[in-house]
Amino acid sequence: MQKGQIRVQTENIFPIIKKFLYSDHEIFLRELVSNAVDATQKIKTLSSIGEAKGELGELRIDVVLDPKEKTLSIIDRGVGMTAEEVDKYLNQVAFSGAEEFLTKYKDANIIGHFGLGFYSGFMVSSKVEVFTKSFREDAKGVYWSCDGSPEFELYEIDKADRGTRIVLHINEDSEEFLDGYRIRRILEKFCKFLPVAIYFKDE
Ligand code: ADP
Ligand code: MG
Repeated sequence: MQKGQIRVQTENIFPIIKKFLYSDHEIFLRELVSNAVDATQKIKTLSSIGEAKGELGELRIDVVLDPKEKTLSIIDRGVGMTAEEVDKYLNQVAFSGAEEFLTKYKDANIIGHFGLGFYSGFMVSSKVEVFTKSFREDAKGVYWSCDGSPEFELYEIDKADRGTRIVLHINEDSEEFLDGYRIRRILEKFCKFLPVAIYFKDE
């Protein structure tokens, strides 16, 4: 197991995310689904040029709501991530000028443009967990979690399927996102016409 500190150039990113992005919390779902779509498109490309071996399986994205557990999960069969990639992409918040810009405009619509996409999950979550396995041969499953403080946990797990499952533990202020109708409406609003089929399951 590896423990460590999320590396942010400026300072702690979480107060900023919470403070400035409150106006449009629902975009977290668009951000996480578009990451799942990106990962799925990548595996298609890698497979077509022979870089990813073996069967791709059914390429779909599942959004699963569990109101009892208070979780919302986004599951893909995309490229997945190795431990190195998790460390590089999730622990290193690329923050180039985003803080300054947000302070100035307070416009939630811009956040996708700064690679804050994944971190928008923390607007609605008390904890975010990632279970992932890269398409690379001999890749091991990886678990990452963070509770909104700059500390994260990262360790190897057994994971059968290639791809990524993001589990959001919805926080007390965001319980509206435990409502299946609400999630369905957000998916209809932001996630229509995507190149990968999205299935919603309300447990
Ligand atoms: P962006 O999508 O603009 O690169 P994000 O913060 O949304 O920024 O995501 C950061 C990076 O984390 C992505 O570029 C990708 O490498 C990785 N990532 C996030 N979600 C997934 C996923 N579901 N599958 C594979 N990689 C992912
Ligand atoms: Mg993204």
